[in-house]
Amino acid sequence: MAVHFHEEDLPAGVLADGPIAVDTETMGLVTRRDRLCVVQLSDGGGDEHLVRFAPGSDYAAPNLKAVLGDPARLKLFHFARFDLAAIEYYLGVTAAPVFCTKIASKLTRTYTDRHGLKNLVTELLGGDISKAQQSSDWGGAELSEAQRDYAASDVRYLHRLRDVFEQRLEREGRREIAQACFDFLPTRARLDVLGWPDHDIFSHE
Ligand code: MN
Repeated sequence: MAVHFHEEDLPAGVLADGPIAVDTETMGLVTRRDRLCVVQLSDGGGDEHLVRFAPGSDYAAPNLKAVLGDPARLKLFHFARFDLAAIEYYLGVTAAPVFCTKIASKLTRTYTDRHGLKNLVTELLGGDISKAQQSSDWGGAELSEAQRDYAASDVRYLHRLRDVFEQRLEREGRREIAQACFDFLPTRARLDVLGWPDHDIFSHE
């Protein structure tokens, strides 16, 4: 189990086949303003890969794009909406098909409004992750040890969480509505970037 650090692209062939956990770190929450700094990936086998992009990067990253854009590979996210927007805007690929643990949580854990990744890892897996580095500067030349650990921990539990949520969705009869939500996520992310981040175009107003 190790955290592997890469600059500008993923080396070829470092990920096993199958679903891949993905997360991103950016300069902030406004996709067009706040550049993509780090993409984290895990194949569920215990290692995490961090791909860092320097200021002024051309985001060429052919190996990373091939993985993210592979329609045969399910991508696991927590709050996919944000990551899909950053990935599409900066890397130009739609990282689908998608499974989002936050949406799965909202559709099954209706007894709570605590749907943060930390909450899910604690309640469903009995683990603990630190969110202390969440709002740190991801744009510097060096990432600190704490930042690397934090970035890696954001993809470390997504395979196991998906297993739990597949059972819960099945149990509650919400697998189909969940899939429809997952399928819509790339469009929802595009609406964010196009200028409808908060306005619900399905609402009457
Ligand atoms: Mn993260």
